[in-house]
Amino acid sequence: MLTDSEFKEIGIHQYGIVSPAEIVFDEEIRKICENNVCRLYGKTWACPPAVGTVSQCRERCLQYENAMVFNCVYPLEDSFDYESMREGHAQFKKLCDRLYEAVRPRYDSFILLSNEGCNRCETCTYPNVACRMPDKLFPSLEGFGIHVAKLAASAGIHYINGANTVTYFGMLLY
Ligand code: SF4
Repeated sequence: MLTDSEFKEIGIHQYGIVSPAEIVFDEEIRKICENNVCRLYGKTWACPPAVGTVSQCRERCLQYENAMVFNCVYPLEDSFDYESMREGHAQFKKLCDRLYEAVRPRYDSFILLSNEGCNRCETCTYPNVACRMPDKLFPSLEGFGIHVAKLAASAGIHYINGANTVTYFGMLLY
């Protein structure tokens, strides 16, 4: 795995390693996707239903020995500061790209899960044509049906990081 200084250089705020068997998958989380709260359900290859059932997602995760859970915290002016939330989210996607480039030479096989769906292309090819960049398709952590608050607790990192902040999470299975 990467060194502490590499994690810092990538911009990761906190991280912890868990066994994939410890990850809590919850059909209720998938129902939140199905209710289209984030308006990305059925919009990209990174979200349900394209990622498969919760049980298929769990099976994919269990193929790996380790899960590195990570986060980054972004400041907000107040809890209604949606512009900073969007900006933080865009920054987090770049962080995932940096992590991907750092781990790519080290592992033959891994999955990087990121926060929410994929916004890499202006218009996603879903559902008619295969993803344009399957290597850089980082499925949604929540879309896999993963209970992120419980995941953070298992990894020993904070789910909430103080007033006027937003925290985004990802996970590397390797
Ligand atoms: S990389 Fe492009 S085609 Fe693939 S899921 Fe993301 S937006 Fe869709």
